[in-house]
Amino acid sequence: MSPRKNRRSAPGRPTPGAAWNRDTEEADDGAWVVAAVPGARAVKPYRCPGCDQLIAVGLPHVVAWPADRPGGADDRRHWHRPCWTARSRRAPRVQRSRNAPRH
Ligand SMILES: [Zn+2]
Repeated sequence: MSPRKNRRSAPGRPTPGAAWNRDTEEADDGAWVVAAVPGARAVKPYRCPGCDQLIAVGLPHVVAWPADRPGGADDRRHWHRPCWTARSRRAPRVQRSRNAPRH
């Protein structure tokens, strides 16, 4: 099969996240933009940092990235939805009101 001249360079490539449901969540490690990825958009397997398992293609999940670094695709992390929820739950709210110095 010889490749035809195909000079189309993916013209209508949408801005990632543009059409998604986005939300900003405040966590202990900063503000995160969280977007829901519907199954139709889950076209690649990603490794979930929460459970270190692959997110299957076609599985609805969430993608999160630091709110102060909106441009970095490398900063985006794909999470299973329950893993993301568990993440924020897991974060202990210790020493939040205290300004204890670290030793
Ligand atoms: Zn997971």
